[in-house]
Amino acid sequence: MQKKIAIIGGGIVGATAAYYLSTLPGAQQVKVTLFDDGVGQASKAAAGIISPWLSKRRNQRWYRLAKAGADLYPELIHDAQLGTEVYQQTGTIVTREVPTDLEVLYQLAQKRRQDAATMGEVATLTAAEVQAKVPLLGNVQPGVFISGGARVDGAALVNDLLDRASAKNLTVRHEHVTLTANGQVVTSLGARQFDRVIVSAGAWLKELLAPLGIVADVRAQKGQLIELAVKDYPLQENMPVVMPEGERDFVPFGHGKLIVGATHEDDGKFNLTVDSAVTADLLGSAQRLMPGLTADSLTGVRVGTRAYASDFAPFFGPLPEHDTFLVASGLGSSGLTTGPQIGRLLAGSALYGGTPDWSEYELPLTTYLASSAK
Ligand SMILES: Cc1cc2nc3c(=O)[nH]c(=O)nc-3n(C[C@H](O)[C@H](O)[C@H](O)COP(=O)(O)OP(=O)(O)OC[C@H]3O[C@@H](n4cnc5c(N)ncnc54)[C@H](O)[C@@H]3O)c2cc1C
Repeated sequence: MQKKIAIIGGGIVGATAAYYLSTLPGAQQVKVTLFDDGVGQASKAAAGIISPWLSKRRNQRWYRLAKAGADLYPELIHDAQLGTEVYQQTGTIVTREVPTDLEVLYQLAQKRRQDAATMGEVATLTAAEVQAKVPLLGNVQPGVFISGGARVDGAALVNDLLDRASAKNLTVRHEHVTLTANGQVVTSLGARQFDRVIVSAGAWLKELLAPLGIVADVRAQKGQLIELAVKDYPLQENMPVVMPEGERDFVPFGHGKLIVGATHEDDGKFNLTVDSAVTADLLGSAQRLMPGLTADSLTGVRVGTRAYASDFAPFFGPLPEHDTFLVASGLGSSGLTTGPQIGRLLAGSALYGGTPDWSEYELPLTTYLASSAK
């Protein structure tokens, strides 16, 4: 008999889990149903940067996870046959005004490169060299260039992965679901029992787990970014992403599309309204980087909800004392980077069972989940 697996949440974690559940050995023995209500999804709002290597975060578990995620991308994109409009290693540039800061960053890049082949080449660039690589920029600083850094379109990635899996063993249902105290999934067709349930619900994990008597350490944060259509876009379609010191990230997507962002609004929580003051602020940043850019270049604003745990670290794995369930949340501002690795690990665990040891990537799950009875 085929094993029935449910996934609640179709962001980067749920979509990657669904993709691997359709391709890993043994996939033909499972039937997967993914439920997603499509409200506020962080992954679809994100037009993202995959370049964790120069992060100053001291959390080594997070770094190993983010590095594994960045390493997994080229393989995932190749295997799923996804195009360069979804993901491309255009390179990333992190700028620094002060020469000693630039040198510190360069030394960090050299050190990290020793065991991170995906980084590719590392170089310091003068301001003129940065501008030569990204001719859209009028106002530039020197920077560190990493050739293996990439940009990814979260919405396109999620849609394509779900399409690939739907051609095999996945059914996608666009609806809001809840859980019962005894672990059934309540859908529009009634309460259903699954053999395994992956709860990859991002910022909504807390409300989903409440009926099981579990309090998850997750808070929501609003994020916004702007999309611009740039006139006279140079012919180069693969300009690097720039992370300029003191300004918003600058992500050229090719075909005249430019993304600038993103905000981190703790007060915004689950609020999905576009804030005109925030839009003006993002546009201001874009205009400082690219003088001459006018407000009529603005084509859209994307809003999503990120999930954070108190220690800002992602967490994922089998739910203690509820062995049908696997959960993931807390991916924060780097979830497009860590998400595919988390989705792949969860898919393997849902298929093959066992007691995984993911301590190289995260603290025990009990750090983030408590019983509401206490
Ligand atoms: C503006 C912005 C820019 C970002 N930029 C970057 C970047 O440059 N690089 C990077 O690495 N990361 C970036 N991130 C972070 C990254 O997007 C997130 O960490 C990641 O996408 C989270 O993925 P997830 O699958 O955990 O959650 P989500 O993508 O939020 O998916 C969760 C899904 O679960 C669904 N759901 C929840 N509850 C239910 C329910 N009861 N029933 C049905 N469905 C439900 C939600 O509707 C949602 O679709 C950015 C985020 C934002 C908002």
